Parts: sequence; structure tokens; C-alpha cells
Amino acid sequence: MVDQTHHPRLPTDTDDGLLLMISGPSGAGKTTITRGIDRAIADSVFSISCTTRDKTEADVEAVDYHFIYDDEFQKLIDKKAFLEWADVFGKKYGTRKKWVDEQLSRGRLVILEIDVEGAKQVKAQIPDAFGLFILPPSEDELLRRLRNRKRESEELIQKRFAQAKHEIAEAKACDAYDKFLVNENIDEAIAEAIMTVKAARIAHTMH
Ligand code: 5GP
Repeated sequence: MVDQTHHPRLPTDTDDGLLLMISGPSGAGKTTITRGIDRAIADSVFSISCTTRDKTEADVEAVDYHFIYDDEFQKLIDKKAFLEWADVFGKKYGTRKKWVDEQLSRGRLVILEIDVEGAKQVKAQIPDAFGLFILPPSEDELLRRLRNRKRESEELIQKRFAQAKHEIAEAKACDAYDKFLVNENIDEAIAEAIMTVKAARIAHTMH
């Protein structure tokens, strides 16, 4: 149940808020699928995480992330302001709890794009959160896609590849995910993801 103490109910509020966690290794198409879901579902909102990683040229502050310093991040941990947080590649990433609660109490579909560690923490607190894990068609194809992006050195690509295999194994071994979706063809994967989320929402509302 969402804590509504701080968010008085509005006439436009509904009871079909659903928390959607989307995870998957880099190169699986997770971000594209997330955008597809966000566009297709009118009352969806994307959670902008806080991170201590460096902002790249492609990043926009407060659109992609809230870029903050280590000491600020630590203060938020101390204040228990995070619904979940995790260390990914040596940098911290976290989801602000207050914002998520507020959006859920408004009846929205709240989308978190988070790693497996974070998803486990969310599922432990909110068992009816829906976990969607995006898989590449095969390991060979994942390696090919990572190389095709031409963003990184071969050393970094191999690091991401090893990390991806580890993440997939972790995801399959835990109970945070309700659906594993193979992204063979991006348009089909987006369509299937949208259908899955709509069905999960109906099931959740009827629950
Ligand atoms: P990137 O730095 O490439 O944007 O993201 C790296 C990883 O961090 C991705 O796997 C992404 O899903 C994960 N991530 C982004 N935001 C959060 C967050 O708030 N919490 C957790 N646990 N992981 C996150």
C-alpha cells in the first residue's frame, strides 16, 4: 500500500498505480524498450535516478539523471531517502522514495530502469512491483551488439560482456522478475513489452 499521508488525494487520482522495474544488460535494448513503453502508456512516468557517475556529453541533467556528488548521495542514504540504491561499475545509483510514492498514489505507471541489485531491494519492499528483464537473443549476439555501438574500447566491451553474463545469471536466480523478454527484433520486443505491461496493470488493478 502506498503511503498517502503526505499526498492528499486529488479528484484525478486513480487506484491503478503500478511500479514497473526494467532491467537488462547493456546492449540488450533496455533503454529503447523503456522509451517505447513510456510513449505508449499515457499516464506513465519515468523515474530520474540520482547518480554519482560523471555526466557525459549525451546526458542531460534532470532528464537522464540527477548528477550529484558522493557526499550528497551519502546524505540521502543516511536520511533513508532511497527506495533502493546500488553500486554499478563503482558508481552509485539510487531511486528517490518520496517521488515514487507520490506518483504511485496518483495512480500512475512508474517506470524504474534499475539494475538487478536495485530490483531485488524494490521487490522485497513492494512485492507487487512488476519486474521486466530484457534479454539478448544469445551471448554471441550481445557481444556483436556491444561491439557495434563503437562507443568503447575492446577492453571495456569485454568487461561489459562479462558483467552482462553475470547480471543475467543473477536475474534468473532471484525472484525480482515476473517476465524475461528476449529482444530479437526491436519493434516486436517493444510491442510485446507494452502488451505485458498493460496486462500486468489490469491484473494488478483487479487484485
Ligand atoms: P548508465 O550509467 O549506463 O546510465 O547506467 C548503468 C546501470 O545503472 C544500468 O544498468 C542502469 O539500469 C543502472 N541504474 C540506473 N539508475 C539506477 C538506479 O536508480 N538504481 C539502480 N539500482 N540502478 C540504476
